[in-house]
Amino acid sequence: MRFDGRFSGRRAVVTGGASGIGLAVASRLAEEGARVSVWDRDREQIEAAKSEISGLYDEVVDVSDWQSVLAAADGTAKILGGIDILVTSAAITGPNTTTWEYLPEEWRKVIDVNVNGVFHCNKAAVPHMLKAGWGRIVNIASIAGKEGNPNAPAYSASKAAVIGLTKSLGKELAQSGITVNCVTPAAVRTAIFKQMTQQHIDFMLSKIPMGRFGEVEEIAALITWLCSEECSFTTGAVFDISGGRATY
Ligand code: NAD
Repeated sequence: MRFDGRFSGRRAVVTGGASGIGLAVASRLAEEGARVSVWDRDREQIEAAKSEISGLYDEVVDVSDWQSVLAAADGTAKILGGIDILVTSAAITGPNTTTWEYLPEEWRKVIDVNVNGVFHCNKAAVPHMLKAGWGRIVNIASIAGKEGNPNAPAYSASKAAVIGLTKSLGKELAQSGITVNCVTPAAVRTAIFKQMTQQHIDFMLSKIPMGRFGEVEEIAALITWLCSEECSFTTGAVFDISGGRATY
């Protein structure tokens, strides 16, 4: 189902929007009237996304680099005239191994992209939203951040941090017209699976009571509702989308 013009006049940024869940969100926001800027580090993927979604803007950004994010926020705000919506989808999984075998440099890479990246993008977008007196931020966490998946310690810790940041920022902005929420999906088959072992993918599927993976369109449907005008009395909240896996 599509809501015609639901986002008309809105200026949206989707990080990691060149692939998977981010791409589905960017596509739906654009279809429903938003002007969308995709921030991703993968130029080739961006070009593929642009051939699928008409009118897409882009910035090649490494979200773990604060200066790169700041420049992208300024560039986007200049081209689109502001930023009203931010969806942070850019992330990596890191290797699947135990905590005691995890290499410190691999740990730092995951935290740099998944935690510092979300912080950078939230920090860079908020001043633009404050200027407009309205905004919607949706950070993509994971069920791993609530439950802690074995053999994914950095990823699980990083997603727990995204939940904590969302709760803090949501309260800081509660009276500003800007809402900040996060979603915690269970497994969805995207390119991110290439970064995981088959054993880990099987483990994730075995934990889902519905007995299947989620679809990117299902995640995009929840996220776009959280980005909409209609979702107005919810902030600092965590939305489950896990085929029955989450119990709290
Ligand atoms: P994906 O790999 O298909 O897409 C991630 C995108 O982020 C890619 O386009 C990649 O180029 C980009 N990216 C990675 N590092 C970046 C960086 N440093 N700077 C800028 N861009 C960068 O993955 P996906 O499955 O669409 O995941 C999207 C989000 O959903 C992630 O936050 C992920 O942790 C979360 N998530 C995914 C699943 C799943 O099973 N697919 C489950 C729960 C949560």
